[in-house]
Order: sequence, then C-alpha cells, then structure tokens
Amino acid sequence: MIGAGGVGSVAVHKMAMNPGIFSDIHLASRTKSKCDAIAESVKQRTGVAIATYAIDADDVPATTALIEQIQPRLVVNLALPYQDLAIMDACLATGVDYLDTANYEPLDEAKFEYKWQWAYHDRFKEKGIMALLGSGFDPGVTSVFAMWLKKHKLKTIRTLDILDCNGGDHGQAFATNFNPEINIREVTAPARHWENGDFVETPAMANKVEFDFEGVGPKNMYLMYHEELESLARFIPEMERGRFWMTFGDEYIKHLTVLQNVGMTRIDPVIYNGQEIIPLQFLKAVLPEPASLGPTTKGKTNIGDIATGEALDGSGEKTFYIKNICDHEDAYAETGNQAVSYTTGVPAMIGAAMVLTGAWKGEGVFNIEQFDPDPFMDMLNQHGLPWSVEELPGPVAF
Ligand code: NDP
Repeated sequence: MIGAGGVGSVAVHKMAMNPGIFSDIHLASRTKSKCDAIAESVKQRTGVAIATYAIDADDVPATTALIEQIQPRLVVNLALPYQDLAIMDACLATGVDYLDTANYEPLDEAKFEYKWQWAYHDRFKEKGIMALLGSGFDPGVTSVFAMWLKKHKLKTIRTLDILDCNGGDHGQAFATNFNPEINIREVTAPARHWENGDFVETPAMANKVEFDFEGVGPKNMYLMYHEELESLARFIPEMERGRFWMTFGDEYIKHLTVLQNVGMTRIDPVIYNGQEIIPLQFLKAVLPEPASLGPTTKGKTNIGDIATGEALDGSGEKTFYIKNICDHEDAYAETGNQAVSYTTGVPAMIGAAMVLTGAWKGEGVFNIEQFDPDPFMDMLNQHGLPWSVEELPGPVAF
C-alpha cells in the first residue's frame, strides 16, 4: 500500500484483520514516521507486523524499484489523486496489479476525470495486469450499490441519486474530514449532473434540498459533481438522470464562502515574501489534520443510492433506496480513525480482496461497475459496512 493518511490507516488495519487474504502487508508513504505509527497501531490491535518504507510516489523509478524489491501481488494506491498515473506507470513497469479510490487529477487544474486512467487500458491489457479504479465509498460502494440494484431489483435504472451525508460533529469551527486540499477543490468546483446523455453544469453549491437521513436527521444537501457520475453514465447507458448530493452544515458553508471570496482556495501560485505559494496548499497547512479529528468526532455517516427504473419482476416502475450508516465513534474504536476514513478504507480492502482472491479478474483498466457486485456486497456486510435496501413509494421529488 502507498499512502499513510486516514484512509490508508483504515485499509491496513482491515487487511491485517484478514490474514487469510492479506498474508504479507507492506506500507510505504512520503513520511515514513506516519507508516511506523500505523504499523504500531496495527501490531497492538491485531498482532500483525507490517513492513514500512519511505517513498515519493511521484518518482516512478523509485516506486518501480520498491515494487521490485517487495514483489507484491497488488499495489493499493491510497496516496493522493495526483499520484495515480505515476503509480500506474510503476505497476506497468513491474507487471503488478493496481487499485485506487480516486481518479487522477492534475495538480494545476481542479479537473478530475477518468480519461487519463482509461487511456492506460491497452497497456495494462498487453502486460496482462489489471487496474481497479475507484474502490472507496464514493466512488466505490455507491457504484456497487447501483449495480446490485440493477442485478437484483431493476431491469433498468432511469434515474439515480447518490446521497452522501456526514452527520458527524468534530467540535471544530471548520475542518474537512479528508484531505482538505482535495475536499475543497471538489466542493468549490461547478456542480454537474447527468441528464439525457450529457452533463449539465450549474454553479457550485447553488442547489440545495433538505433530506431526512436515518440515524442523522434532517440536513441540507447540495448538488455537486462527483467522479462516479462519469463511470455510472458509461456503464448504465440507459440512465436518463444521475445526480450526486452531499450534506454540508451552515457553518461549513459560511467558512468556505469567506475563504473562497478572499482567495484562499485558489490553486494558482501567488508570490508571498518573494516565495511562490499556492493559497489552498497554505490553507491545508493551517487547518486541522483530518486524522486528528478522530477522537472528537461523534455522530454517523449515511451514504446511499436512490434508484428508479423498471422492476426486474415486470411489476412496473419501482424506486429503491440502498444505504450504509456508519458510526464515527465505533469506527474510531476499531481502527483509530473516524468514519469518513473508515467508509473509504474498508471498501479499498474489499476491492483488494476481490483482486487477490480472483473473485474479480481482468486484464486492462476497469471501473468497479464492471464486476459482479455480489461478493463485494457480502464482504461489506461482514467487514463493518452493513447495508440495507428498502422500496420507496415512488421516485424522489427533489
Ligand atoms: P491524506 O492526505 O490523509 O493521506 C494521503 C497520504 O498520501 C499521506 O500519508 C501523504 O503523505 C501520502 N502522499 C501524498 N503524496 C505522496 C507522494 N508523492 N508519495 C507518497 N505518498 C504521498 O488523505 P486521505 O487518507 O484522506 O485520502 C487518501 C485517498 O483517498 C485520496 O486519494 C482521497 O482522494 C481518497 N478518498 C476517496 C474517497 C472515496 O470514497 N472514494 C473518500 C475519501 C478519500 P504525507 O503524510 O507525507 O503528506
């Protein structure tokens, strides 16, 4: 595994809890002390020893050399989206399978798209290896949920809404629950949703709807662009409308609006005291580390899909709501990380298990929608992210 943040920490803990599949775990990241701290926690909690390494994953020859030294079956990329292509290059050079949870994003453009990674398909195929893209919660589980509904409940999915609610309270005026730079780039980008064969763009945070989330209560959720809309539109070609919604509290919106208005979320360089700085990177340096929020975060996350389409059993149009609810304090007690890291790290472990056990096989670059959802869904229930599905009286009105 590469990347020793909150998500990497959860994934390594969960792998160590499944030694039948993960017999030998190696953790490398830019800062080795962070790998060592995770290894220490894993040792204490599970008794499993993990080897640790320092690596700059932007350095393809160094990553290639490390992969050659360790000779793993799979490289799990839980560093940042900026490293995706470099790590895929190292996997190609060494002939090792690849997995990640977030699609590539160039450092100097807040633009995440699958096109750069999909362009690796033929090279991965020729090498006889596989890349599994987007094996977190969203992207990840939200797509598997949609494909499970398509396999077991609906012949077609006409409309799909993904609802991501974090009802957690960390007690800080403003903090992000995962990497602040990635999080802020995502929420300040224009909203886009899929409608009748194309993406429709609207201003960032302009559409809000109140929704009553089980386990959390009523929350405002905002229409946003999220990367799984691109792969879902491709792999559910009949989908007429696909939207992604995320909840934000009023305090979060207030702080973000001010930071944006004063220019602190800019990603172009500015000169300060004769030195070039990127305002958003500076902001990251002064905000709380997401990992530090674990001990104080209380409440639950509730993430799921509402899909409407023609029922498989021929009973006409039906609407289903499928979701997981995860408790921040339970996640922290189990792995030392809050639920946002937990809900991403567990599916990363499960995706890795799918590849290592051969439940999911392929040569080339694949999105999670392309495989049988059932073994993944079974493991969600067994490894801390149980899900439920219910039929709603009709399509959502918002
Ligand atoms: P963090 O910022 O907490 O951790 C990222 C880790 O990657 C850090 O340990 C960092 O090192 C390391 N890293 C950064 N650059 C390099 C590099 N060049 N070489 C080696 N290591 C590097 O992020 P998170 O744990 O919150 O997120 C990890 C990934 O998961 C991200 O890609 C994020 O977008 C994705 N994610 C996906 C979600 C989903 O549901 N699909 C949800 C949440 C996150 P250092 O400590 O030295 O900075």
